[in-house]
Amino acid sequence: MKEITGEHRYSDPPCRQLTFNGMTVEGFSRAAMQTYWRIPELKLGFDFGGQPWHFMSTPQWFLSHTHMDHLLALPAYAARRRMMKMEPPTIFVPAHAVQRIRQLLDVFTRLDHGRLPCQLVGVMPGEEYELSREHVVSVVKTDHSIPSVGYIVWERRKKLKPEYQSLSEQEIRQLAAELRLAGKQVSAEIRFPRVAYLGDSTPLGLDNNPAMYEADILITEMSFAAKRHRSDKIHRYGHIHLDDIIDRRDKFRNGLIIASHFSTRCSDKEIDHIVRRRLPDMLDNRLVLWF
Ligand SMILES: [Zn+2]
Repeated sequence: MKEITGEHRYSDPPCRQLTFNGMTVEGFSRAAMQTYWRIPELKLGFDFGGQPWHFMSTPQWFLSHTHMDHLLALPAYAARRRMMKMEPPTIFVPAHAVQRIRQLLDVFTRLDHGRLPCQLVGVMPGEEYELSREHVVSVVKTDHSIPSVGYIVWERRKKLKPEYQSLSEQEIRQLAAELRLAGKQVSAEIRFPRVAYLGDSTPLGLDNNPAMYEADILITEMSFAAKRHRSDKIHRYGHIHLDDIIDRRDKFRNGLIIASHFSTRCSDKEIDHIVRRRLPDMLDNRLVLWF
């Protein structure tokens, strides 16, 4: 008998990693199998289709919808954090699903005889949540076969208002003190979208949320690429086809576009071949197919 030792003793869910402009994207996504992502620099993750062991250190998660391939590992995640004596996590989920997810966790608690401490926050499109002084997350409506949302992470900075830009440092300090008394400020907040996560959606999830096209990093689904999977049918199931991406190629202003959530009906090799044939420049080399 051959004993397996070291890091091969157990297998963890697959996980790929890519760093772009100071943000690391880690995760995996395949339709009907499992979807999970995290950005360690932002201390947040998206979806719970699986949960590589090292993901448990991330304390805030954002769920796009309640299909099983995006939700299944939530109880395991909460249990691991409790077991490792980490702070209870905060999990943002579509508002309509809060109660059912709580029931799901209660059932697991009873079966497992272990508490699953976490804070569940119900979110609605249009809302915004503060992550830190520099980052906020906004919730946007997407278009899937069940209610779903996407998330945009914005970076915010203070910028001196244009009318004060010719003043000296001392003058600005003085003015700032005066304006503060009147409840006003010398600077205004500017924002730009750093990371956009679409989740599962038809192209409407992109079209109705312009920040998806502007974000530095876009994580989008592209469930189908082959001609035999026609886009009208794909839309009925709430997904995106390669044709949709090609139709919109001039809209993408992103620095990095991660296409993922490919159907298991095509092999990695076939998807790669089709996309490179139809988009030879890979959207100016900004498109990454995430296998
Ligand atoms: Zn789905």
